[in-house]
Amino acid sequence: MKGFEPIVAESASGLYIYDAQGKKYADMISSWWCNLLGHCHPRVNAAVKAQLDKLEHVIFANFTHEKAAELCERLTKILPAGLEKFFFTDNGSSAVEAAMKMSFQYFRQTGGGQRTKFMALKGGYHGETLGALSAGALDLYAQKFKPLLFDVIRLDEQNAQEMFAAHGSETCALIVEPIIQMAAGMRIYPPEFLKKLRQLCDQYGVHLIADEIATGFGRTGKMFACGGKWDGKPESRNRAADSGVCPDIMCLSKGLTGGYMPMALTVTTNEIYEAFYGKEPFLHSHTYSGSALACAAAVEVLKIFEEEPILQTAQDNAQYFAQLVKEIFPNARHIGLINAFELPNAAEFARRATEKGVLMRPLGDVLYFNPPLNIERYQMEEVIEITSKLVGTI
Ligand SMILES: *Cc1c(COP(=O)(O)O)cnc(C)c1O
Repeated sequence: MKGFEPIVAESASGLYIYDAQGKKYADMISSWWCNLLGHCHPRVNAAVKAQLDKLEHVIFANFTHEKAAELCERLTKILPAGLEKFFFTDNGSSAVEAAMKMSFQYFRQTGGGQRTKFMALKGGYHGETLGALSAGALDLYAQKFKPLLFDVIRLDEQNAQEMFAAHGSETCALIVEPIIQMAAGMRIYPPEFLKKLRQLCDQYGVHLIADEIATGFGRTGKMFACGGKWDGKPESRNRAADSGVCPDIMCLSKGLTGGYMPMALTVTTNEIYEAFYGKEPFLHSHTYSGSALACAAAVEVLKIFEEEPILQTAQDNAQYFAQLVKEIFPNARHIGLINAFELPNAAEFARRATEKGVLMRPLGDVLYFNPPLNIERYQMEEVIEITSKLVGTI
């Protein structure tokens, strides 16, 4: 904290955050990737206000409520095939912890007790509680805590086959960020690798956990990076129905509530659910799980997706934005509205851009834009105009 003066946010609207002096900042990182449809969105605000006068939060054990049920119903229709059982937590890291514990316990209860290990990708990030930190591979977050972390088998495109052959039978689950490893510096990898991993998981009876905490809800241009919507045939219920990949467990958070409130979901298949139902229950509880206010925000976000052409517009604008970014950063890569590029003085550039009213943050020597899905073209132009003036000055 030393040497930094925090900006005091006083209000926010759409793309912009306003400080106490009325200065505006374009939130080009969606407030750490969670703000999905702009700040203080009128519809989400109204939904939360309406919920507040009805039911704010209740114990989420032996109780449920309308908004939680509606959220699950709506998600079941858009999630990859077979994902239809929902476990609520209250932040992304907890959703990852729950996913790993769920997979581990599943094998204890189905005759797979020899499976005690986890696999994860090199460069992965899954949160910062100790289990999630173990699964992650970024030293920046994990190095100091190594003595507290458990060993995880690390895969990349070169060694995946070999690692499955050596460790597949002792592994519960492979956890991956599908298609793009965001915290690693917006590293995009080919869908073929994800498909290959799905095949290896099938071959060795290993669960595939898709951590879509950052990629979910349109960030990659599709609703989910995994894809794979159900084609309606019972036999493909549990697997990819199109070119997409269907995980056994998926973690959702960040954009889930539009960036309004802490909530996360660990979603799984009926098959995994059945290994617990009426048997040994899955114990993993967080006080604020299933908050009705957060559910109300999340339901409204899904309604907006359904009623307004959010995804289509984001897809159309993605090309436009990528071209603008390439004009000043020719080596930029993009997926959806995410644009990233290497810059030697990334941290200093981000600091200066923020000073000029474009909120950016570095990821090591990578700078990126990851704006809300409904950013407009004139706003993109404005942001590029401001940042272009910094190019070559730092
Ligand atoms: C942000 C993030 C998490 C952790 O979520 P928190 O709510 O910050 O705990 C986990 N996985 C991925 C891919 C993330 O981007």
